[in-house]
Amino acid sequence: MTSPAYDDNNIFAKILKGEIPSYRVYEDEHTVAFMDVMPQSPGHTLVVPKAPSRNIFDADPAALQQAITVVQKIAVAVREAFDADGVYIAQFNEPPAGQTVFHLHFHVIPRIEGVALKP
Ligand code: ADP
Repeated sequence: MTSPAYDDNNIFAKILKGEIPSYRVYEDEHTVAFMDVMPQSPGHTLVVPKAPSRNIFDADPAALQQAITVVQKIAVAVREAFDADGVYIAQFNEPPAGQTVFHLHFHVIPRIEGVALKP
């Protein structure tokens, strides 16, 4: 089983190139984080490696390591900023698994006790 090749005509590639706006909350040499435009809960943030990869299957292991370190920083930050009781981290690979934007990314989603996520 192989995945389609990376296609830089995706919305996160355009955000990384500055062609469309985003609300960036973190950036370093390898990774950016910005707010999800349709948040499942207040504070829903996306962590996006700058390196072009479609998802986990074609990701550079070094980029993954850098990204997960940023995921940890963002999880700590959103827990504090949104007074969350927990933080849900999700990452989808290919359409049957729920992926709709084909540039590797991690969802960091604050959770409040007893409050359901928006669909
Ligand atoms: P799903 O859509 O099932 O969550 P993904 O894991 O591919 O699948 O997530 C894509 C995410 O990108 C969605 O949460 C969506 O709200 C978000 N998104 C789409 N366009 C933008 C945008 N312009 N800026 C920020 N987030 C976006």
